[in-house]
Amino acid sequence: MSHRRPAPCSRAARLGVLVGAGALALGAIGYGVGVIGEGPSIIPGPRTGGALAPQAAANGVDQAGAQWSPASDANYRPADRPNDYDIDRIVVHVTQSTAPIAEQVFRDPGHRAAAHYLVRADDGRITQMVREHDVAYHAGNWDWNNRSIGIEHEGFVDQPDRWFTDAAYRASARLVADIAARHDIPLTREHIVGHNEVPGATHTDPGPYWDWDRCMNLIQEI
Ligand SMILES: [Zn+2]
Repeated sequence: MSHRRPAPCSRAARLGVLVGAGALALGAIGYGVGVIGEGPSIIPGPRTGGALAPQAAANGVDQAGAQWSPASDANYRPADRPNDYDIDRIVVHVTQSTAPIAEQVFRDPGHRAAAHYLVRADDGRITQMVREHDVAYHAGNWDWNNRSIGIEHEGFVDQPDRWFTDAAYRASARLVADIAARHDIPLTREHIVGHNEVPGATHTDPGPYWDWDRCMNLIQEI
């Protein structure tokens, strides 16, 4: 579907541009935040139902140990993956914000974007915000949203020493490996991609300082 293209994450951050109702609201109370997820441009589709997986009844998450903090239902589309769409890609993002701000905007219906997971920098804590069977609006590409799971990493693309921590890489690797095992996704760079590598991407995250070799080595060691 056609949609207005959001500004790239890094450009938005560099210019201090605030995009989207959620970001605007937060900016108004003093936070600086760029575009998180794909921005406010994707119109949600109709609700299609989607049964909860058995483990959801227990704790509401797909990933063991994750905390559950549901995104606004304006920021994803209920679905029944993999029955309606195969999941064969994992998309790596960097939030261009702190984790609390990212969580706040993903809960804001005005943001119109969210990822399935958010990884905190300092300790690798994982928060799940959209169930894996649902389609989160994170990739900026309708088909890729349908086929992928999105992981946001707290931080800023141009501050790797502060935000791309060992704890975050290790927690992310465990999460990617577990998602891949659940959905039979090959552990290769063809299937584990950066947001910037999504066809038609206008976002630049995770940026040039994301250490893909380290990331993939950790994933394959698990
Ligand atoms: Zn992104």
